[in-house]
Amino acid sequence: MQGEDFRRFGYEIIDWIADYFANIEQFPVLSQIEPNWLKDNLPKSAPETGEDFAEVIKDIDRLILPAVTHWNHPNFHGLFSTSTSSVGIFGELLSAAFDMKAMLWRTSPASTELEEVVLDWLRQMMGLDEGLKGIIYDTASVSTLHAIAAAREGLDLKIREDGMSGREDLPLLRVYTSEQSHSSVEKAVILLGLGQRSLVKIAVDEKFRMIPEKLREAIEADKQNGYLPFCVVATVGTTSTTSIDPVEKIVPICEEHTLWLHVDAAYAGSAAIVPELQDCLKGCERADSLVTNPHKWLFTPFDLSVLYCRHLDLLKRAFALVPEYLKVSETVTNQMDYGIQLGRRFRSLKLWFIMRYFGQQGMIERIREHCRLAKMLTDWIEESEDWEMLAPVPFALVCFRACPKNVEDLDTLNEKIMNAVNEGGEAYISHTKLNGKFTLRVSIGNIRVEERHVEKLWNLLNEKLGEISRKGAKDAKESREDF
Ligand code: PLP
Repeated sequence: MQGEDFRRFGYEIIDWIADYFANIEQFPVLSQIEPNWLKDNLPKSAPETGEDFAEVIKDIDRLILPAVTHWNHPNFHGLFSTSTSSVGIFGELLSAAFDMKAMLWRTSPASTELEEVVLDWLRQMMGLDEGLKGIIYDTASVSTLHAIAAAREGLDLKIREDGMSGREDLPLLRVYTSEQSHSSVEKAVILLGLGQRSLVKIAVDEKFRMIPEKLREAIEADKQNGYLPFCVVATVGTTSTTSIDPVEKIVPICEEHTLWLHVDAAYAGSAAIVPELQDCLKGCERADSLVTNPHKWLFTPFDLSVLYCRHLDLLKRAFALVPEYLKVSETVTNQMDYGIQLGRRFRSLKLWFIMRYFGQQGMIERIREHCRLAKMLTDWIEESEDWEMLAPVPFALVCFRACPKNVEDLDTLNEKIMNAVNEGGEAYISHTKLNGKFTLRVSIGNIRVEERHVEKLWNLLNEKLGEISRKGAKDAKESREDF
């Protein structure tokens, strides 16, 4: 497609996106299709000859939109509420246009150098020290995998060369994380061939934070058994509740036993750009690595995860492998040396656009506002006799449940409330289990969210609680009469 056609369709698609954002609240947040609906409506094989692109665009409305769950809807409060800014989309568009594969500096000087600059800007905004150098991966899961791989490389056990299987000279290697950490830590351990039995899950306190004394005990017991502890993954902003592991107290334990400390701040790292929240990363000046995801809470379109690492040399030692056809003479950073991928997308462009368009103040204000809205919802819950909080709210995630006096089975009640809210299409919330209790989670992080959206959700929750309670009372009365 060339010249005028490219322009015409380009304008049309940008118009389409502008209308989509303007009308986003008219869509049901969760897609309402049944499984397989889209597959059943698509041909079984690709068209033999090219189609008119105008027809293809029409199918976005007809086929794709109904199958979209709208993460950009301001009432998407499930999981973590994440959304894209418009300038982020421009970054994606241009990076697709350049289509560069950042493997060697010479194949992508712009991506290689802009990434370094943008990640240094972000590091400063988060209040992290200069010793941490950033590198972009797609997701936090992959960032954490690379951090643990670098930690293992630092053991000098020749695992890169000789592997782990069939070796009698290797003790059981151990990684420690809290019971509340993200499943990506366990997946990394699986993928690195360490095995799930290498992962020790440390108990948490009443605020869902890793208990440092338990960590120390586990490490000491393992050493006595002849195992080899080598890495701790602490979390700042856990997935279930956004609890904050006490990094400052974990650091000395890691230093005493020479363990690599990786901090998973995938969600909450963004909050550290807000001066009054920056304390959440206290202690990270002594961590070995830290992951944060601008695609979670910095309005950056998926995907963009940043690994900050103090030992890029070890990351390089773990992954660099240069075949003849990729050998170059210049002394530069070649990003292919720092991970499993050869080519990398030009992801820093969208973050650069966002930082320049919003400025530090604009980004800070939005995150601060999300935390204010979460506090407002928390206040409403605390003031109500029908609801109770189930975890502290350090950032912008609220964990709570309905607890009306006359209901015994609160788990079933709350699950019904969640399903009723989600089925209506007006909002999306998700759940977790805390201390065995079915817990509702409301995340506030969308760039388009306003006070009225949180009010709407609160009304919806109370409405559903009322409907379900009334139906429960009616059913109970009928069954008494039948009896
Ligand atoms: N770590 C934490 C604390 C998370 O909450 C999540 C996802 O929600 C992840 C890691 C995984 O993120 P990603 O999808 O970027 O792999």
